[in-house]
Amino acid sequence: MINGKPLYLGVRGQWSFSDDQVFDLVRKTVRAQRAFWNDYNVKFYTVGLLPLKYENENEREVDGRGFSNTFVTAGTNTKALGLDDLTFLYNHELMHHWFGHILKQAEPENAYKWFHEGFTDYFAHVAMLDGGLFDQEAFKKRINNVFSVYYSDSTHQWPNEKLQNDYWSSPAIKILPYQRGLVFAAYLNESIKKYSRGTSSLKQVVQHMLAEARLYNKPFSVDRFLQLLKETSGQDYAPIVERFITQGSFIAMADWEKVTDKVVLGPTEVYDLGFTTDKGGIGMNARLTSFTEGGDAQKVGLQVGDVMVGFKSDFKPTSYASITVKRGEETLKFKYLPSRRIMVPQLK
Ligand SMILES: [Zn+2]
Repeated sequence: MINGKPLYLGVRGQWSFSDDQVFDLVRKTVRAQRAFWNDYNVKFYTVGLLPLKYENENEREVDGRGFSNTFVTAGTNTKALGLDDLTFLYNHELMHHWFGHILKQAEPENAYKWFHEGFTDYFAHVAMLDGGLFDQEAFKKRINNVFSVYYSDSTHQWPNEKLQNDYWSSPAIKILPYQRGLVFAAYLNESIKKYSRGTSSLKQVVQHMLAEARLYNKPFSVDRFLQLLKETSGQDYAPIVERFITQGSFIAMADWEKVTDKVVLGPTEVYDLGFTTDKGGIGMNARLTSFTEGGDAQKVGLQVGDVMVGFKSDFKPTSYASITVKRGEETLKFKYLPSRRIMVPQLK
C-alpha cells in the first residue's frame, strides 16, 4: 500500500534476486515518484515481471511496456541480469505515468521524443535523488555520463527533423532525443531558477502542465509550454527551443555560464583510433602515418611506417584495442587504449 492505494507485483520464474527485492525496488520507486509529484491519484498499480527465453546465462536483456495502471517487464532470468538492470528501467518507465499517461504524447510522436523521453529521463533521475534511491554523487555521475556521451560527438547536433524522420534508422539516433532532452531539461531548470529569482523551477512548470492535462485531457503542446515558461520567468524561450531542440545545436559552455555556475568544463574520454593510416583508417596492410598527440597508441611503441595486419577493438574508449603490425621482418603485437581526452560541460 502507498498512501492507502494498493501496489501489486506479479513475478514468474526464478531470478538472480528474490521477489521481495524486486518488490522493495518497485515500492521505493513508486513511493518516490508519487511523493515527487505529490500525486496519489492512482487507484491501484500493478507491475509484472516475466521471463524471456534465453540460450546462455550471459544474456542480459530486459524491457517493458506500460498500460493504464500496469507495467509489464520481460527479461532474461539469467545470472547476468541483476536488480540494477531493473532500477533505471523502472525509474524511467514508471515516470511515463506522468509523461505519456497523464500528459499525453503530442503527434507526430517522434517529433516530441526530446520532451517525452528526455524529460522523463531527467525527472526519473531527479525523483530518485529526491526520494533517496541514490545520493548526490551517484546522481552527478549518471547525469555527467549522459552529458559526456552527448557532447562527445559533434554529429549529435542533428536537427530535430532528422531525428523525427530517421528515428528508427540507428541506435545512435534513437538514443539522441533522450540525451538532448535530458540536457535541455537540466539547462531549462537552471535558466528558470535564475530568471524567476529562485521562485520557480522546471518541476513547477511541468506540474502546471500536468494539472492542465488532467483537467482538459490535452496532449503536450510546445506553445503552451512556452507560454507557461514566459509567465514563470518573464523570458521568451522560443529562440532557445528553436536553437537547442529544432536546430539541435549544443548548449555551449557560454550558454550554461549565463544561467548557472554549477556546470563547468570537465574531462571525458572519447573513442579515438589513435593514429591515421594511408588507407584513411583501419585496413589490411594499411601503413601508419601519424599519431594522436599524447595518445596511448604512440606511447605503447607503435611507429609511423608500421603496417597493420590485425586489429581488434570493441570501439569503446575504456577497453583495450589490440593491433598487430609488421615492422620490417618483425611481427609485433600491441595493446592500447583507443581514447582521447576532451573537455565537455559537466555538473560540478
Ligand atoms: Zn521512455
